[in-house]
Amino acid sequence: MTLKDKVSKKHLLINGEWVEAKEYSPLRSPYSGEVIAEIPLATEEETDQAIEAAQKATKLMAKMPAHQRAKILETLAHLLEERADEAAQIISIESAKPVTTAKGEVARTIETYKFAAEEAKRIHGETLSLDAARDGENRLGYTVREPIGVIGAITPFNFPMNLVAHKVGPAIAAGNSIVLKPASQTPLSSLFIAELLQEAGLPAGALNVVTGGGRVVGDKLVNDSRVSMITFTGSPRVGIGIRNKAGLKRVTLELGSNAAVIIDRDVDIDKIISRCVTGAFSNQGQVCISLQRVYAHEEVYDRFVEKFIEATKRLRIGDPLDPETDVSALISPNDVERTVDWILEAKQAGAIIATGGKSEGNVLHPTVILDADTHLKVSCQEVFAPIVLINKIQSIEEAINLVNDSNYGLQAGIYTNDVRTALDAAENLQVGGVMINDIPTFRVDNMPYGGVKESGTGREGLKYAVEEMTEMKLVVWNRN
Ligand code: NAP
Repeated sequence: MTLKDKVSKKHLLINGEWVEAKEYSPLRSPYSGEVIAEIPLATEEETDQAIEAAQKATKLMAKMPAHQRAKILETLAHLLEERADEAAQIISIESAKPVTTAKGEVARTIETYKFAAEEAKRIHGETLSLDAARDGENRLGYTVREPIGVIGAITPFNFPMNLVAHKVGPAIAAGNSIVLKPASQTPLSSLFIAELLQEAGLPAGALNVVTGGGRVVGDKLVNDSRVSMITFTGSPRVGIGIRNKAGLKRVTLELGSNAAVIIDRDVDIDKIISRCVTGAFSNQGQVCISLQRVYAHEEVYDRFVEKFIEATKRLRIGDPLDPETDVSALISPNDVERTVDWILEAKQAGAIIATGGKSEGNVLHPTVILDADTHLKVSCQEVFAPIVLINKIQSIEEAINLVNDSNYGLQAGIYTNDVRTALDAAENLQVGGVMINDIPTFRVDNMPYGGVKESGTGREGLKYAVEEMTEMKLVVWNRN
């Protein structure tokens, strides 16, 4: 059966109903260009209806006991476990993520919803020592955490299932309702999860899925006063635009980076090569904490470069649905063109393209660049492609300065056997998370995750997202 045989027409999910939209657009496989589905292009009015449905559902969701919210999320996790292979195929078809990597994403998504179910059961405030103040004597004070209301969730293409889970999971756990706008290239994963959530017993209106253009649907969500919070994952350009328009709405932004790892002189290079190659090229480098910059100490630089290039050349390029494939197509032909231009700029400026550097259809070959100057686009911007730079450093201090010389600050890694060096790096790296003896690409879904500088504001990782998605209320009893 070819992809064409499977093409189906999708609908908007508004107030628990699958609603036919006014306008549709074909969704194409990034790898083959084949049409894989017909997707609604929601209008402002259709988005308005979704917001209205979500608002109506806020009371019901806020009153739903924690054990029921947890049960819905647990059921969703079970349903997803049962249909894990189908879910991985959907991710792979719509995003060109190699299917083996897509299976990993599904496994993580299941875990994310399980963590969300657990968090639903432990949302609480604290009792306060009001009598520490002279005027606070004989008063009992405590805080509670209440749901924030309607959450507008806007998600990117690169983890179409798990990054949606990082918004939908904690929003339901905290008793909110949601209007979800998935990335235009990857709506199928969200629509699939929405079907499972209906089956899991989520009330009508608690989750609405509105597919369509970022400018139309996204803008409506950001500008509508009934939406209390925007949780956004995507590019700094769009994120900063949202922040500027959102006024007093709560906004969390999970944005991009040009993540780096430092390799100290005492590191066993053979032991870390395969991990570094995975960090650089997994999902074609389209990961917000993809390894883009390597700073290797001069004493181990040559060995690292040689081994890294050897391992890179062994990566298999091909169809995302082939389980043997390591690297497949970039998300769009524009991204292929952009990255080839950036590589050319680096070459013209004297950098060495040690391997890769060319494209084949929509696939950019895994590319290793040496001696790239810090001002080049491949260095100072987010490449979001299978491109990695390896640079020689003379000291760890120099490397830390180079890592910090970036507009971004999501995560960084350092391999070292020296405890003091590790502690210094943890203290001095200007990022949201420092990985000692690992690549910056490490993430499990319950850890606090987010960045500084242009990498964003706020944190995800269920417990932390629940905090962002609830409002603190103070209650004071006067016993005088
Ligand atoms: P993107 O182009 O910024 O799109 C993200 C989402 O925003 C999409 O749903 C997009 O819709 C929507 N959007 C576009 N214009 C909008 C507007 N004016 N108002 C509101 N929403 C709008 O990002 P992407 O290319 O999908 O994803 C890649 C980026 O995400 C990279 O920078 C990556 O680093 C970042 N990312 C960050 C994290 C993290 O946790 N920090 C995780 C993953 C990815 P359309 O698809 O319809 O344009």
